[in-house]
Amino acid sequence: MTTMETLTKLQKKDIKLIGKFVEVYCKGRHGATERQSFSLPAGLGERRLCLECSEFMRYAVTRRIKCPLEAEKPSCKKCRTHCYNKANLAKVKEIMAYSGMKLMLRGRLDYIWHYFF
Ligand SMILES: [Zn+2]
Repeated sequence: MTTMETLTKLQKKDIKLIGKFVEVYCKGRHGATERQSFSLPAGLGERRLCLECSEFMRYAVTRRIKCPLEAEKPSCKKCRTHCYNKANLAKVKEIMAYSGMKLMLRGRLDYIWHYFF
């Protein structure tokens, strides 16, 4: 899709970060489940995800691309309109908490900084 190739720098950054979080979560929680490559848009690489996490990732990417507050928004964490539906909002919180803890233990504070502080 051509629209996916014209993402802003911030959109790319957020999508990349979400992808990392979902992958860490999937590996830890769904390690035994069969996983496939999920291609991120705009050449942002691939992530190994199970079917459930692929569905969520597709949703997250779509929401991020369609965000109407692009210009004023520092990060999804601080967003005033949480655009996720209830089920996916619960899931993203679970993913952020789980992967945030794991990445923190690995010293990946650059990831944590953006989403938790
Ligand atoms: Zn998974």
